[in-house]
Amino acid sequence: MKEIKMVDLLGQYKLISNEVNTVINNVLNSTSFINGPSVSKFQKNLENYLDVKHVIPCANGTDALQIALMSLGLKPGDEVIASDFTFAATVEVIALLKLTPVLVDIDSRTFNIDINAIKNKITNKSKVIIPVHLFGQAANMSEINQIAKKNNLYVIEDNAQAIGSNYKFPNGIKKKTGTIGMIGTTSFFPSKNLGAYGDGGAIFTNNDSLAENIRGIVNHGMFKRYHHDIVGVNSRLDSLQAAILDVKLKYLDKYNKARRSLAKKYTENLKNQFCIETPYIHGDDDSHVFHQYTIKIKNKKRDDLIKFLNKYKIPSGVYYPIPLHKQKAYKSKRFIEDDFKVTNEVSKSVISLPMHTEMNSDQIEFICEKLLTFFQL
Ligand SMILES: *Cc1c(COP(=O)(O)O)cnc(C)c1O
Repeated sequence: MKEIKMVDLLGQYKLISNEVNTVINNVLNSTSFINGPSVSKFQKNLENYLDVKHVIPCANGTDALQIALMSLGLKPGDEVIASDFTFAATVEVIALLKLTPVLVDIDSRTFNIDINAIKNKITNKSKVIIPVHLFGQAANMSEINQIAKKNNLYVIEDNAQAIGSNYKFPNGIKKKTGTIGMIGTTSFFPSKNLGAYGDGGAIFTNNDSLAENIRGIVNHGMFKRYHHDIVGVNSRLDSLQAAILDVKLKYLDKYNKARRSLAKKYTENLKNQFCIETPYIHGDDDSHVFHQYTIKIKNKKRDDLIKFLNKYKIPSGVYYPIPLHKQKAYKSKRFIEDDFKVTNEVSKSVISLPMHTEMNSDQIEFICEKLLTFFQL
C-alpha cells in the first residue's frame, strides 16, 4: 500500500503537472511577476465561481482577515466576537489592531461558533462577528446574519477551510460560504482545499465601497499612484501563485467531492464504534468540504490512540490542542473558564485523520481497521 500521508501535495501536482508547468512557464517568460494578467484572470474566475461581486487577492489568509477588519473603520477597544476553537490567526489580527477579542464557545457537534454564546456576549461595544467555517463545514450563517442585523454588527466569514462549500438558507437558497457575510476571507496555503504552491489569500465582498476601500488598503492605502490616503499594507498574490490557482480552481469541485466521498467511507467504517463520534453534518452534503475529517474520541484515550496509529505509520493531527482563550499571548481576565465548556472538552478529544484528494479506499480501510482494533484492545 502507498505510504499514508496527512496531505499529498505531490500526488495532486503530478495529475495536473502539464497544465501547471505550462502556466508557470508563461509567467516566467512574461516576467510580470507582480500584478500580471494571471492575477486578474484568477480574480475574475473566482468571482464567477463564488458568485460574488468582488474578489480582492492578497498575500495570505491572515492578511485577508486583518485587511477585512481594517476596512471597517473600527476604533481601538471595539469588540470582535470570534470562536475560541480555530487557528490563532483570527484572534491575532484582532489583537494587532488593538481591538478586543471576545472569544466564545462552539457547538459541540459542528465545532462552529455557538449561536447562544454569541448572543450572550453582545455589548454596546460589539462591532464584528467572525464565524469560521471550521474543518470545511458551513457555520449557521442565517442565524449569525440575523444576530448581526439586529445588533448592527458586521460579519466577516473566515472561509480558509471551506472554499467551495454551500450554505443553504432556511428558504432553500444556496450560497457559497465566504459570500454571505459583509466580507469573506480565505487562505490559499498549500494544504487548504484550494492551495497554492506558496502563500496566498483573498477577500470577498458584494459591497462596492468596501471593495474599493480594501483595494486601497492592500496597496499601501493608495487609490491614486503615490497618493496615500489611508494607512494600508503591502499584501499581494503574486502572478505565479495566481496562475497555479487558476488551474486548480477548475478542479476544486472535483477535489471537494473526493474529500466528501472519503469522509463517507471513514464514517461508514467508524460509526458503530461507541468510543468514536464521527462528524456531524448540519446541512446538505455539499455544506461540508472536509478540509479535515475530525472525530472525537470519547474514552479519554486520544493521545494513546495517536501513539498506536504512529506504530502503523498512520499520521494524524490535533486541531486544535489548546483553545485560544488558554493561549499565553491571549490570556485575559475577561475569559471565564465556565464559558468554554465545549472547547475545553473537544481540545482533549479531537483527532483529525488523513484527508486529501489522492487517498484511496484501501488506505481508508487500513486506517479504520487499526482504529477499531485500538478500541478492542
Ligand atoms: C489557514 C487558516 C488561516 C490563515 O491562513 P494563512 O494563509 O496561513 O495566513 C486563517 N484562518 C483559518 C481558519 C485557517 O485555517
